[in-house]
Amino acid sequence: MSDTLVLDTQGYPVTFVSWQRAVNLQWQDRAVVVCEDAERILRSPSFEMGLPRVIKLRNHISRKLRLKVPMTRRNIAIRDHSSCQYCGVLLETREYTIDHIVPRARGGKSVWTNLVLACVDCNKRKSDHTPPEAGLRLRQKPVEPNQFDPRFNFRLHINTLRPEWSDYKAYLYWNVELEK
Ligand SMILES: [Zn+2]
Repeated sequence: MSDTLVLDTQGYPVTFVSWQRAVNLQWQDRAVVVCEDAERILRSPSFEMGLPRVIKLRNHISRKLRLKVPMTRRNIAIRDHSSCQYCGVLLETREYTIDHIVPRARGGKSVWTNLVLACVDCNKRKSDHTPPEAGLRLRQKPVEPNQFDPRFNFRLHINTLRPEWSDYKAYLYWNVELEK
């Protein structure tokens, strides 16, 4: 999905889309291509172009492109007030562990509502159990943060920093995405 970086009308990165979506947005005249990939050429009988790597929206369109709060370790810690969601102890950054409430081994997903900040002790005690099985209780129900909440960091995350995106480096994290 992260083929093409999308800039808003002001030129700030807002999201990533597949290259097919990027080409469609251009065809519909809703975006202009800012940067093409010189090494991946798209060909049809009637056109030839480099795969779009950066596009810029012509106007504020489609709520589907709306930015969500990136699910990073840091943003989970901000939501959870840097405290273990089981015992309540305040944690230093280096002490953060992320717990899957429904364990991954039992089909638990890496989503906002299934991830909480936990201390090492509670995380160990919980292991592959659910909270009731481990005798633990969540202090609050984890929710997905509101995108308008200014406390959260909105840098987009990617696995590889492509050369075409280096101008936007300040807005991107790479190699730090949480496992999906
Ligand atoms: Zn704890």
